[in-house]
Amino acid sequence: ATEIRLAARPKGWPTLDNFEIVDVELPAPGEGQVVVRNLINSVDPYMRGRMSSAKSYAEPYAVGEVMTGTAVGEVVESTVDKLAKGDFVMHEAGWRSHAVLDAKRAVKVDPDAAPLGAYLGVLGMPGLTAYAGLLDVAEFREGDTVFVSGAAGAVGSLVGQLASLRGAGRVIGSAGSAEKVAHLTGELGFDAAFNYKDAPVTEQLRAAAPDGIDVYFDNVGGEHLEAAIDSITLHGRIAVCGMISQYNATEPTPAPRNLAQIIAKRFTIRGLLVRDHLHLREKFLAEVAPLVKAGKLRYSETTVDGLRNMPQAFLDMLGGANTGKMLVRVAN
Ligand code: NDP
Repeated sequence: ATEIRLAARPKGWPTLDNFEIVDVELPAPGEGQVVVRNLINSVDPYMRGRMSSAKSYAEPYAVGEVMTGTAVGEVVESTVDKLAKGDFVMHEAGWRSHAVLDAKRAVKVDPDAAPLGAYLGVLGMPGLTAYAGLLDVAEFREGDTVFVSGAAGAVGSLVGQLASLRGAGRVIGSAGSAEKVAHLTGELGFDAAFNYKDAPVTEQLRAAAPDGIDVYFDNVGGEHLEAAIDSITLHGRIAVCGMISQYNATEPTPAPRNLAQIIAKRFTIRGLLVRDHLHLREKFLAEVAPLVKAGKLRYSETTVDGLRNMPQAFLDMLGGANTGKMLVRVAN
């Protein structure tokens, strides 16, 4: 078996030197354990936070230890009744080719209900984040003009489409390339989109939303948040899901410099953690899975082949190489 360890904590942008790929002997499963051959491993932005030692909502990875993350795989050995060889499961022992884990930490998934990758994206944690963030945290209402950053990514692409399907007045997205912008206004049906690298975000957002925005779903922070504050309407709502523009920063970042507008506009700004909203999971799946199945809600995946390419896939995701969910295919 092969596993990927955190070799050293990054300062600023991580590099391949921060990872170590090691071949290991797989231990025999103990009582109550299963052996899983991982098929698809997920790389997610929050893993950048776990690579550093700073206190945050997720435990830091230990230097020298195998990393963790969500994965789906096939059970190849089982010591329990509830899981059999050949079952497909989702679990948190990613970043490795095989996992020996307690059966109670593995959740069975149905490959006939949805392709396995969907359990890591549109129907998984990123999907629930979009759903809970838009509906619960941003308190989306029909007719709202919604702006979402990171709009071509796993979470953002769902936020915009869900808002449209639920009767948004106007949906605007930002992303980092012309192709992504075309994908947003084309396939995903956003009303407007712009490339945040083309011109200041504040200018581009004003042009895309001349009457302002009622909701901002923030995946990026910094200049994007400042632009959203500039464009937000009276009593608007900002849900802060992520601030990926700052994850590799070595200095505190200044924006938003216009927070004082919160007084006159009385907007709210609320942080969001998906784990506070797990009670919505059933409702989310009941609503979103049929929309996905019917093709009314589109999702993309960018898949990199091979466990050994996983560190690079993670770095590329941070740099914007993915459209939709970034996944690593470990085995077929
Ligand atoms: P994505 O699929 O959106 O991938 C990350 C994307 O971020 C890249 O593709 C890139 O796209 C964009 N990006 C990178 N750097 C910058 C930058 N400096 N400015 C603007 N965009 C940038 O990831 P996810 O959908 O999984 O996650 C999206 C956000 O949601 C992240 O901030 C993540 O931390 C957060 N999150 C929070 C959760 C919570 O519980 N609070 C749960 C899940 C995710 P581009 O080409 O457009 O630059």
